[in-house]
Amino acid sequence: MTRIVVLGGGFAGLEAMRVLERRLGARPDVELLLVSDRNHLLFTPLLPQVASSLVEPRHIVQPVRDIRGARRFRFRRDRVVDIDLGGRRVLLAEGEVAYDRLVIAVGSVTPSFGVPGVDRYALAYKSLEDAIVVRDHLIDLVEHADHEPDPAVRRRLLTVCVVGGGATGVELIAELEDLFRSYVVPRYRGIRPDEPRLLLLEAGREILRGVHPALAARARRRLRREGIEVRTDTQVTRVEPETVELAGGMAIAAGLVIWAAGVTGHPLLAGLAVPHDRLGRLMVDGHLRLPGYPEVYGAGDAVTVDGKPEASVPIIPAALAHGRLVAENIVAELSGRPLRTIDFAPRGMLVSLGEKHAVVEIMGLRFSGYPAWLFWNALHLVKLVGLRKQVQVALDWSLARVFPRDSAMMRPAARCPICARTAAQGLGARAA
Ligand SMILES: Cc1cc2nc3c(=O)[nH]c(=O)nc-3n(C[C@H](O)[C@H](O)[C@H](O)COP(=O)(O)OP(=O)(O)OC[C@H]3O[C@@H](n4cnc5c(N)ncnc54)[C@H](O)[C@@H]3O)c2cc1C
Repeated sequence: MTRIVVLGGGFAGLEAMRVLERRLGARPDVELLLVSDRNHLLFTPLLPQVASSLVEPRHIVQPVRDIRGARRFRFRRDRVVDIDLGGRRVLLAEGEVAYDRLVIAVGSVTPSFGVPGVDRYALAYKSLEDAIVVRDHLIDLVEHADHEPDPAVRRRLLTVCVVGGGATGVELIAELEDLFRSYVVPRYRGIRPDEPRLLLLEAGREILRGVHPALAARARRRLRREGIEVRTDTQVTRVEPETVELAGGMAIAAGLVIWAAGVTGHPLLAGLAVPHDRLGRLMVDGHLRLPGYPEVYGAGDAVTVDGKPEASVPIIPAALAHGRLVAENIVAELSGRPLRTIDFAPRGMLVSLGEKHAVVEIMGLRFSGYPAWLFWNALHLVKLVGLRKQVQVALDWSLARVFPRDSAMMRPAARCPICARTAAQGLGARAA
């Protein structure tokens, strides 16, 4: 019996498992096991729309067990705590499993770059729960600001800083601006239209690095027109309760700081005695194998392909291409055929800029505005896994044209990590 174990039920891991299941699922001498700490695939491109209450959280996740072919592979919801490469076993929170072939596809994490206070006082923005916490925290701030008599406190409560001017930060700030303009200002009588303040802070010289400069400039102009303050060459040096400190000594009083800056290797992989890149991601060869361990493959955000930066970009199409290739190479290996080398380069970039606006670069074509927004929506709807989720998201978008967004807080404020910390220290208006 050959046991093939895939770690991580994200885009790379699930794609690998889907191909393996199709090619090997009927073979009695092969056992397929997927291990992931979440029992669903999260469709990250729509996370900003969860944070802005446009789309329901459940509508952007697909349970692993509902995925076609799932009955022909085993799924175990468990957390990987270590990988014993020499002993060919994976240590889990609830036991261990041995493997003959292993695919490591546990994704990445957002680095804090050692900036003090990020882990305690900035909200993360990576998982579904993060998006729900961002949404609830923001609505809680608005609820407080609505009856706050002191204009300076109100101003602080209504100031949101997103740190990181990549596509993730840009899409998030644009969605939050929509939420303020289309929902908060018309419904909260205590809040004036000019009071909410949204800032995008980027340490580099430009936002949207990797996007064509003309499109990045268009995006920047669009954000500015919407009243969003875009600050480039701006390095955050510390996050305090309700304050962001910048290099040069300036400080911004902010009710909410969201950290959306960069990608770094998964901490689980840091201890493995194999080469890593400068971001802490595992180095794999062109066949996506770990040097020195030909039975171990890596895929998705967790890895970087040696000598091929274009194949190592942390985006969904790259994760899917990796997932497919590792599965095909495992099948080839088991049938004695030669392995294939990764051949992937991003074919474009799509960045949503909120309601009715986007910038798109695809196969050499560049466009922006409403047509780009329609293209962004259509493409992401098609890419959502499963007809049910596609219908649910399409309905959410359609209903938002007729009905207001839903501002019901889903978690009590006390369960918000930031509120709990500031309250414990007796700091801030929200702690009272
Ligand atoms: C907010 C946001 C928006 C994005 N928008 C886009 C976009 O519009 N377009 C685009 O192309 N890319 C986008 N990305 C990037 C894209 O989501 C990633 O490139 C992609 O998810 C990488 O796939 P992956 O399978 O490597 O990792 P992931 O999809 O992150 O999957 C990793 C899996 O491993 C599991 N896991 C992690 N640790 C453990 C552990 N210890 N034990 C068990 N399981 C574990 C996780 O639960 C998860 O299921 C976005 C990312 C974010 C955060």
